[in-house]
Amino acid sequence: MGTRTADAAVSALIDALGADAVAVEPQRLAEFRDPYTFQGWSAPDPVAVVSPGSVEEVRRVVVIANQHEVPLWTFSQGRNNAYGGASARVPGSVLVSLRRMNRVLEIDEELAYALVEPGVRFFDLYDAVRAASERLWISVPVLGWGSVVGNTLEAGWGYTPHGDHASHFCGLEVVLGTGELLRTGMGALPAGRAWQAHKRAFGPSTDGLFVQSNFGIVTKMGVWLMPKPEAYVHCRVQVPERDDVAGLAETLGPLLLDRTIQGVPLISLGPPPGRRWTARFGLYGRAPVVEAQLAVVRTAFAALPGAELEAVHYGADEVALGAGDMLERVMAGIPSMDAMAVVRLQGGEHGGQLDFSPVAPLRGADVLRLCELVRSHVEAAGFPYSPGLIVTPRSIIHTSHMPFDTLDEQRVGAAFELYPRLAAATAAAGYGIYRSHVRFMDTVAAQYDWGEGALGRLNERLKDALDPRGILSPGKQGVWGMAARARWGATALQAEASRRSGSRPGGRADDVGQPPDERARGAEL
Ligand code: ADP
Repeated sequence: MGTRTADAAVSALIDALGADAVAVEPQRLAEFRDPYTFQGWSAPDPVAVVSPGSVEEVRRVVVIANQHEVPLWTFSQGRNNAYGGASARVPGSVLVSLRRMNRVLEIDEELAYALVEPGVRFFDLYDAVRAASERLWISVPVLGWGSVVGNTLEAGWGYTPHGDHASHFCGLEVVLGTGELLRTGMGALPAGRAWQAHKRAFGPSTDGLFVQSNFGIVTKMGVWLMPKPEAYVHCRVQVPERDDVAGLAETLGPLLLDRTIQGVPLISLGPPPGRRWTARFGLYGRAPVVEAQLAVVRTAFAALPGAELEAVHYGADEVALGAGDMLERVMAGIPSMDAMAVVRLQGGEHGGQLDFSPVAPLRGADVLRLCELVRSHVEAAGFPYSPGLIVTPRSIIHTSHMPFDTLDEQRVGAAFELYPRLAAATAAAGYGIYRSHVRFMDTVAAQYDWGEGALGRLNERLKDALDPRGILSPGKQGVWGMAARARWGATALQAEASRRSGSRPGGRADDVGQPPDERARGAEL
């Protein structure tokens, strides 16, 4: 895109939204760089940050972007730091910040749901729910500063029974790439009364199309809340290092499948020496039911050699009053920024990290194999192995963080060089990544290549239909669309090439193509 096109687009945005809503000053734009890379590296610099204050303004931004063929890159809070923050994939983008659209529009105590705008942070929803009701809890990820909508659309996790955030939203309002506005589910009925109460309406379910996608800008989302439990018991189970992670996971599995445990357990590995695997999870509900669940949990872990279980009992309001450690509060749906201290502890004052998150089925042998695979790679590259395993009834998400000092180019480079190698190794072993840093979206998308890339082709066709000029977040999740392929030819061709070089069903491990050097590509952009 030429400078003149960018200037014309920015002028049109200022005319439409006012100068206060459009920032172009270099120091303002610098605030939205990926904060967790080496700052000396070149990045796909944006031309402006636009902050619409209403759905109508979002639509105007999309219409102007279409007229001037300027790429937009949307974020709600833009705090997704270990995955690239607010950083766009192509240069010359207009960043669309939805931080100003931060109203909690509705809280329904009886049916336990909220309707939120995209800029609502977990802190904001927590405050609004507490002000509105004595009877409701929310679910939060470990850092509370992100938005409910951004985290949910990225398929982020919390730890209460509603911790699978992408499964607990209900009903969206979306601006498509054409500027059209739509409501999904029961919201499509003009007089609809069950928009946040019932997920399925009539016809194909479209909600999933907007999760981890660049098909639309979400301007409203229904969020299911949980009834405040009468009792909350926080459990901590420790086992010695190494193979016992398999036993820990396999003991949790049946307890999750039959819903004795309804929260989302987190398994982590403590620091050396004397490293131990620890599983943390909550039991929630009416007091006698929770006591019965705890008895079942105790019996199950008594059968695991070396396991030590500690249970902390809380009444309904005790945790909110500040009791408990960070995870005890997070598992009670209380947002905080305490986890930030860990990033600083590991990476120093300018600490950052790159997150790597493959998924394995919840079978002991798979859990062990994935842990050892990641451990061997990260330790060989000189990073500490300190994973967090998010446990679901049938799978684990193995999150690990490669910490570095962002002023240390060599260490940041080591993390970014390790990522594609590790991604190739885990994909070859059968463990797919569920969410990635913006720089590796083509690499990861290329791995989901079953049927000669059938899924990738479907995504491209949907992109062409819903955003024909390809202006919404080009390249997000490795989806570009025809228009963006033509515009950013080199980049898009690389995306295609990397898609073709991915693994194929039945292929041997050494069939997996060497992923392209995404750092070099990032620098080119
Ligand atoms: P957080 O609010 O947790 O900081 P972000 O705002 O960074 O999360 O959002 C993470 C990603 O999710 C963004 O890069 C963007 O791709 C997508 N996203 C966030 N908000 C929206 C939205 N309102 N509509 C469409 N996609 C969104």
